[in-house]
Amino acid sequence: MTAAAKAIALDDTHVDAPMFPADAFRLTDEQAALTEKVRRFGKTVVAPRAAKHDRDATFPIENFRDMHGEGLLSLCIPKADGGLGADFQTYCLAAAELGRYCGATTLSWNMHVCSTLWSGPLADELEMTPEDRAMHQKRRAVHYQRIVQDGAVYAQPFSEGGAAAAGVIAFGTEAKPVDGGFLVNGKKIFASLSGSADYYGVLCTERAEGEAASRRNTLYLGVPANAPGVTVTGDWDPLGMRGTVSRTLLFKDVFVPEDAMLMPHGVYFQAASRWPHMFITLSPTYMGLAQAAYDFTVSYLRGELPGMPPMKRRMFPTKQIAVAEMRIMLEQTKAIWFQAITEARANPTKDQVLRAYAAQYSVMENANAIAVKAIRTCGGQAMLKSLPLERIYRDSRCGALMLPWTAEICVDRIGREALYEAGEKDE
Ligand SMILES: Cc1cc2nc3c(=O)[nH]c(=O)nc-3n(C[C@H](O)[C@H](O)[C@H](O)COP(=O)(O)OP(=O)(O)OC[C@H]3O[C@@H](n4cnc5c(N)ncnc54)[C@H](O)[C@@H]3O)c2cc1C
Repeated sequence: MTAAAKAIALDDTHVDAPMFPADAFRLTDEQAALTEKVRRFGKTVVAPRAAKHDRDATFPIENFRDMHGEGLLSLCIPKADGGLGADFQTYCLAAAELGRYCGATTLSWNMHVCSTLWSGPLADELEMTPEDRAMHQKRRAVHYQRIVQDGAVYAQPFSEGGAAAAGVIAFGTEAKPVDGGFLVNGKKIFASLSGSADYYGVLCTERAEGEAASRRNTLYLGVPANAPGVTVTGDWDPLGMRGTVSRTLLFKDVFVPEDAMLMPHGVYFQAASRWPHMFITLSPTYMGLAQAAYDFTVSYLRGELPGMPPMKRRMFPTKQIAVAEMRIMLEQTKAIWFQAITEARANPTKDQVLRAYAAQYSVMENANAIAVKAIRTCGGQAMLKSLPLERIYRDSRCGALMLPWTAEICVDRIGREALYEAGEKDE
């Protein structure tokens, strides 16, 4: 289908109500238009393909090809570089809308978009020398052109199975400085888009011979998927988010030129310390899943679900109470999440950081809690694989496990940081 034909098809779609209506949440016209575009795209293009990729645990690459046609691979690329120029909040709102239609596509899109969001609008708020900034802008423009023009897709493997992805120790994947670049060696687990991405945005530790590994020396490198020494290994047959195809990546003496740096030396460490909301970017997908579980329940109980007999179940008081409880939980979750993505910035206050942990915790736990209640309330036929609810239930289970801000780590940090100021100790 040509881009023009696709645009017409998108325009003809019946569009669901927005999760965050522009007037109620004071969105700009641009935000309202972008989120509506993504919502239409999700419903028309992505939703019909979701069940098959979930069943087969295959990556929905055709969604990414179609996103390229719609400019959505370039959502957060600055307008000066040919992108749509969306900021952090706009990305989060757009991804929440897409998450309603396919969790796996949206989580994978998050990995791709973050490579542009972190190197783009987020990096623009961080400190760099004028020389580093000029070099960074030159280098990122190369990555951006690949995405804007060629539809290149970026993955974001940082997990290694240990404490590094929790932000506690340096990454075990290392980049040894050599003439003109680095030699990368290591292993990444759970790499969404493995085998389908064109580039892996690898977080690794720059370490010269004899030097101690330090988190301060974290490098963010765009490694070509076809570079000699990169292999994808292991199988992929998980409970949920099956379409992400998050297999293991091995890097064996992979030469990566210096120009492949997605951030200058020291800037990733600065981002992780000064822009902590960068780690809340996994939550929009699950915010969308929470909305989808609620919307499904209302349609189902009203007897309005497409493809199902028009049998109403809404007259039972127990079901009405369950829907009320789901709505309350959804509204609470949306409220704290919207607040957290709105106040995301460099150097947030302690309260803003605690709120971000609380928002992440709420989304990741409540998305699954709402899906659990949806199944219990709708009843047996609602969990058949011919309907999306059981997929939403399985996908939503994954959110609380995602590092660096797992639900457990959020609880741990909120408790500790509420009770202790920096440097405080007990006798
Ligand atoms: C569907 C899906 C897609 C994913 N996609 C990606 C991706 O694209 N890129 C990516 O990098 N990762 C991805 N992940 C990985 C994810 O972010 C986590 O890294 C992964 O789920 C952790 O698995 P684990 O068994 O190693 O976790 P765990 O064993 O729970 O944690 C690993 C380590 O983290 C530390 N840790 C864990 N909990 C605590 C705690 N409470 N307090 C202190 N330290 C703690 C410990 O050192 C622990 O050994 C994905 C995960 C899923 C489920």
